[in-house]
Amino acid sequence: MSATELRDAILKHLEYSQGKDLAHASLYDMRMALTLAIRDKVIEPWFRATRATYAAQSKRVYYLSMEFLIGRLLEDAIMNVGLTESAREAVLGLGFDFEAVLNDEPDAALGNGGLGRLAACFLDSMSTLGCPAYGYGIRYEHGLFRQSFGPDGRQIETAEDWLRQSHGWEFERPEAAFRIGFGGTVAESGRSAVWTPESAVMAKAYDTPIVGWQGKWANTLRLWGAEPLRAFDLNAFNKGDFTGAAAPEALARTISRVLYPDDTTAQGKELRLKQEFFFTAASLRDILRRFASEHSDLSALSSRVAIQMNDTHPAIAGPELVRLLHDERGMEFDKAVETARACLGYTNHTLMPEALERWPETLMAQVLPRHMQIIERIDAGHARQYPSRTVSIVENGEVKMGELSFIMANKVNGVSALHTELVKDTVFAELHALHPDRIVNETNGVTPRRWVKGANPGLAGLITETIGEGWEDHLERLVELEPAIGDQGFRDRFAAIKAENKVALANWIGTEMGIPVNPDAMFDVQIKRFHEYKRQHLNILETIALWQEIRANPDAGWAPRVKIFGGKAAPGYVMAKEIIHLINNVARIINADKTTRELLTVVYPPNYNVTMAERLIPASDLSEQISTAGKEASGTGNMKFSLNGALTIGTLDGANVEIRDLVGAENFFLFGMTADEVVECRKTPDHAARAIAQSKRLKAAIEMIESGAFSHGDKAMYRGVTQNLRTHDYFTVCADFDSYWDAQRRVDRAWFQRDDWTRIAALNTARTGWFSSDRTIKGYMADIWKVAPMI
Ligand SMILES: *Cc1c(COP(=O)(O)O)cnc(C)c1O
Repeated sequence: MSATELRDAILKHLEYSQGKDLAHASLYDMRMALTLAIRDKVIEPWFRATRATYAAQSKRVYYLSMEFLIGRLLEDAIMNVGLTESAREAVLGLGFDFEAVLNDEPDAALGNGGLGRLAACFLDSMSTLGCPAYGYGIRYEHGLFRQSFGPDGRQIETAEDWLRQSHGWEFERPEAAFRIGFGGTVAESGRSAVWTPESAVMAKAYDTPIVGWQGKWANTLRLWGAEPLRAFDLNAFNKGDFTGAAAPEALARTISRVLYPDDTTAQGKELRLKQEFFFTAASLRDILRRFASEHSDLSALSSRVAIQMNDTHPAIAGPELVRLLHDERGMEFDKAVETARACLGYTNHTLMPEALERWPETLMAQVLPRHMQIIERIDAGHARQYPSRTVSIVENGEVKMGELSFIMANKVNGVSALHTELVKDTVFAELHALHPDRIVNETNGVTPRRWVKGANPGLAGLITETIGEGWEDHLERLVELEPAIGDQGFRDRFAAIKAENKVALANWIGTEMGIPVNPDAMFDVQIKRFHEYKRQHLNILETIALWQEIRANPDAGWAPRVKIFGGKAAPGYVMAKEIIHLINNVARIINADKTTRELLTVVYPPNYNVTMAERLIPASDLSEQISTAGKEASGTGNMKFSLNGALTIGTLDGANVEIRDLVGAENFFLFGMTADEVVECRKTPDHAARAIAQSKRLKAAIEMIESGAFSHGDKAMYRGVTQNLRTHDYFTVCADFDSYWDAQRRVDRAWFQRDDWTRIAALNTARTGWFSSDRTIKGYMADIWKVAPMI
């Protein structure tokens, strides 16, 4: 499609979809018209994919995820259908700034962090590979909260409202609606049971086409919105009770109203359980309806249907599928369990006990009475089959969703090599012994279309010039860059692209935050959700210690640094919010020190999201991946940084292990204890006090916080953080501090060998093509789903 043709298509939508002529079109109108013109280009591969799948009677993949952190779609879709240049020219020709049009799109934050972003990268890769697939989730009215900082530096949360404007990508499907019940009673009837729910809502489908690289294939992201069965109570309204009349509607819509902002903690809330059942049950009904339109023999279900549970959030899929097969379609119970299991896969994302979902048995029995019975029967069946086992799904009055997912899945996967081994040795050790073939590893990945080509066009151009076209969907080809890295000319180009990205980021930080930063300084970046295990406090303690040493000894060869933080804390996570508060105040004090200004700046732009990640990562020199070993299941931020030519300072945790193996130990700043050593360390009750006593820098940094230096003299302000470090320090910040400090000084020395730094940065790009989510999805297709690509 030429720029002229696209221009005509935009004008047509401006006129007939937006009802505007060009002279009166706003930025919003232009963005919507461009979105609709691009969406038109996606329809053809979308229909073609559906027809081809139908004609081939292919097995389909159903990816069930409570979260899809998709971010903006327009730039990505334009790139995938190969219209970037035409679109730029067309929009410019119509008198609009192309970047401004792209930036007008809201960032769809239907997820918290890594887990939701993984689901979004998987959608892109499944479409790129021609894997017939549907993503199923919830159409939250409000995505992840918007973060700002108060004048005192504390996090402020406000509701996000991406759906205030109409969502240009989606198609409403009123005909695809299912009644989802809750509560009520169960009556035995012969060999099965009849569940009569007490209340119900409608789940209505909204479809977004997701087009793959080069527009060869498009899958569907189907999100469910909750609606009342009946709009509102006209009788109450007529009697003047306007609020009462609207109450049932409000209650029903509550189910898809907000994304739970909790990251890695289980939420014991009835609404959360209802959300999980709501989208899982609607998806399963949709899946069975589609199956029934092509086949009649339900015992063949698993030859046509692969359902992936992204974490335990959709774990109710096991019992619900059994219920649909047994109660509603008359399949014998044990066969229904076998059939469901043959369809289901479960991805584990965390080992942390507080993050493994457990529901009180009483709540489960109250909200989903029939499912509670089915869970008990599955548990009993498993016990009968393995009489020596001690593990069970229901224990101490709680339903353990991890165990339920494991027992109801034919494959259980971890998300990095280390994590998968820990899954086998810790959380699911006994179940693994009983089912030794069930656990497999599928190391996470990221889509190179968004995270390299889209986010870093300069680097993408250099890659194409050096190794030719076609690396975007064969990212392992980046190894072909390696011979070129020996050329001074290539390294200079690589360094110049990084420098350009840094100038752009420095300008943005200047405009957005009013803080001048030197683009020649090292950009040292830690962006991710705030959590104690991710240890942003280790980073800020080192920052304080560094500032003190620079003041004491200004000429000791410090590498000039801009420390950049980004990330949100769950609103109820007090400790994480205190750490945010501390970082903002440390930044305020350090940035005001004129004597260290040239060497150290700390910036923390608010509201980290996908769009900000796309801006920051290509401009980063140093990637902070400093979690307590054994706690970060994989990480995907770490992969985005390496691909974009940042060096990593990190622990042996999650996929850091694989990154280090690939880029070479000599090209990775390793520090800290291993997962085993962390477990050992915790056996010494006063490990933190000992570490503080042994480290004068750490001691001074903690004491400086306690002196009130960052809190206008208020000595008690950060007691929560410092007391925890001194006494408990479960995440071993203190024990790892000196090792981290030393690694940072190795970073300083490496920074001054600038050409060598660039060489290592380029090696990071060349050697991490393995982290394409295409490779991950090929693994799922071969090992778990048993689905062949259609292109
Ligand atoms: C990649 C990404 C994450 C995950 O980052 P980790 O460092 O792996 O925790 C979280 N949020 C956003 C917006 C991302 O793009």
